[in-house]
Amino acid sequence: MATPSKAQLLTNVHDLLKKRYKPKADPHPGRLTVLEAVVYGICHEGMTRDAAAKALARFKSDYFDWNEVRVSSLVELQSTLAGFPDSEGRARRIRKFLRQMFQKTYGFTLEVLVKKPLKEALKVLGEYEAFASDFVTATVIQQALGGHGMPVDEEIRRPLARLGINEPDAASLRSTLERAVPKNRGVEFLGLIEDLAHDTCLPGIPECPRCELRKICPYPQQHKDELQAAASHAKSASSKGTAAKEKEIASSAKDRAHAKEAAPAKPAKSASKPATASPPVAAKNAPAAPAPAGAKPSSAKAPKKSEEPAPPPAKGKSGRPRS
Ligand code: SF4
Repeated sequence: MATPSKAQLLTNVHDLLKKRYKPKADPHPGRLTVLEAVVYGICHEGMTRDAAAKALARFKSDYFDWNEVRVSSLVELQSTLAGFPDSEGRARRIRKFLRQMFQKTYGFTLEVLVKKPLKEALKVLGEYEAFASDFVTATVIQQALGGHGMPVDEEIRRPLARLGINEPDAASLRSTLERAVPKNRGVEFLGLIEDLAHDTCLPGIPECPRCELRKICPYPQQHKDELQAAASHAKSASSKGTAAKEKEIASSAKDRAHAKEAAPAKPAKSASKPATASPPVAAKNAPAAPAPAGAKPSSAKAPKKSEEPAPPPAKGKSGRPRS
């Protein structure tokens, strides 16, 4: 069977997901301002679009204006982001963006950029730290600048990777999606993928048996193959381990047998040891040979001069000492 192109696969995914999940209305059917889109993008990364839309609404309703958000403490901003992972980091990014904007424009509007060509607008926005995030950049393009932007975070990347749409980074995946999914279906497509990511295509072990995409998704079969390969690897490793253990046992038994055989030779070795020592013993027990005249006593056995007097000189038949 021919492999469908990425565009065809994504169209199939879109159609199947529409059967499973009711496409939700765009939380911002009108356009957001650039400032609002940045705040929304920071809140949306790794979160649902509903949670992000509610957080943006709280920033707009709980504070007098954006200047009050700019001068608020991180703790206050974090309370507006209660329930968000890394609320401190998000609060810091929002406040930093507002501070940078105030320093550059003495105000809180960047709407002049909407009328500029997209490339030019993005060049200006690239000076803000918030735009280091590709997710925020794509959100602003989609929600504020009227371009075709497909923000990709982990919740979007995970199901697409399992479906076989793999790219080395978020920016590459974004450009693949922007080429394959038409602009007028972009928001709905991402909303459906987000629903999938929070329903069956969960982090860790996905719940494929109840997924609408299980017939076109390669992941369940790949995962099954991987599990089988891992099981057979573990089995062969365990049988190799058993064989090695048996070999080790046999080898140690052989060593013990050799040691046993070698054991009787030990006394012979110890008997031969005295053999080297025996001459002195034998010499000790044997009757002492008469010392030749004038011979020096043996250095090993002869008593020391100071301890034992030298034997009297041998006498001749005449009884005189020999000269
Ligand atoms: S079949 Fe499984 S891995 Fe594939 S998209 Fe559905 S839940 Fe995710």
